[in-house]
Amino acid sequence: MGDVKVRFAPSPTGRIHLGNARGALVNWLFARRHGGEILLRLDDTDRERSTEAFARGIQDDLRWLGLGWDALARQSDRLDRYAEAAETLRAAGRLYPCWETEEELQLRRFQAVAAGGPSLYDRAALRLTEAQRAAFVAEGRRPHWRFLIAAEETGWTDLIRGAQRFDGARLSDPVLVRADGMPTYTLASVVDDIDFAISHVIRGEDHVANTAVQLQIFLALGGNLPEFAHFSLLADAGGHNLSKRLGSLSIESLRGEGLEPMAINALLARLGTADPIEPAWSLDALVAGFDLGRFSRASPKLDLEEIRRLNAPIVHALPYAAVAPRLAALGCGAMDATFWEAVRANLARVDEARDWWTICRAPLAPVIEDAAFLLGAAALLPPEPWTAETWTGWTRAVAAATGRKGRAFNQATLACKEIGGVFASIW
Ligand code: GLU
Repeated sequence: MGDVKVRFAPSPTGRIHLGNARGALVNWLFARRHGGEILLRLDDTDRERSTEAFARGIQDDLRWLGLGWDALARQSDRLDRYAEAAETLRAAGRLYPCWETEEELQLRRFQAVAAGGPSLYDRAALRLTEAQRAAFVAEGRRPHWRFLIAAEETGWTDLIRGAQRFDGARLSDPVLVRADGMPTYTLASVVDDIDFAISHVIRGEDHVANTAVQLQIFLALGGNLPEFAHFSLLADAGGHNLSKRLGSLSIESLRGEGLEPMAINALLARLGTADPIEPAWSLDALVAGFDLGRFSRASPKLDLEEIRRLNAPIVHALPYAAVAPRLAALGCGAMDATFWEAVRANLARVDEARDWWTICRAPLAPVIEDAAFLLGAAALLPPEPWTAETWTGWTRAVAAATGRKGRAFNQATLACKEIGGVFASIW
């Protein structure tokens, strides 16, 4: 394989969820497996919905998952390049102005669907006369710009889905420049993939139809075609798309729940492949066996319980150095390496160390039930030295003195043993 360069391209219109994180991880593993690079591209041309807080939050989430990047680009910094590319397409006769309003387009889409046809843009704008155009301009309308799809077959060999073929005559001319002059994702993404020399575009199958259109834009701009891979999207237990429950699946909320990043990575790297889902303690361990060819086309079901199950064995192996700041943040006092190594095998989450700290180190107020019985029993305890026979003789004496037998007796003497620990040495 030549120089590998991939990109993960979230839109900063929200925090990332497990579905997005899977896209980031798959790209990251692919890059590392092939000695390549990964670009983090923030698709922030939607100025109304993109925020700096989301952009920062996404970077925090990725860093927490361990998915660093070699370079960062923001589409909002590259508007000049998109304008240049639009000019190239205009000059080549592949970008044409349209004046329809959103309502007009909506109506036409309804009509097309009602007539049983596909809702392709009907290219009415290409049939406008000069006078009609001038009238729109005089009205103060600003055009948006569509790409003229060639009526030819396009296709690619998808690294996950195999041979893909699309007939250009059945694709709708996409809008590449909005009426306010902003480029759409469809254009900006292709310009970036060309300029950053992206070798492999790896993204969800919801982009398959985009790829068919974008292939033509790559060619119209004279760019080299990257390879493409589209992975199937995660489904919930009922087989439905996950988008409805994204809040609970955000990386931020899973982190807040105390789950380990590697529990998430271990699951996401294997979901949708035939490989077993098992704990992994480092991203490097996942790189070794990573292969896009192992992903199937079926939508894998996501079960959050699997992340929780993977979490415990990962916590059990965490070295003290990896958790020291988090233990300090639990606010219990100085949990040292000895304490951590003694308790970690009992934990499903790191923050449960707090409970063990309380059990082991914090002052405990014993609850003594049946104190009169215990005092009487203590009075009957023979003087040391104790032997293996002491227990039997003493419990008989206590039973004779109190008349207690069976469960009531056992419970009380058990309490006696726990409090005093007197027979610890001979038991
Ligand atoms: N911003 C796009 C998305 O989040 C990127 C798609 C792509 O990878 O090209 O869907």
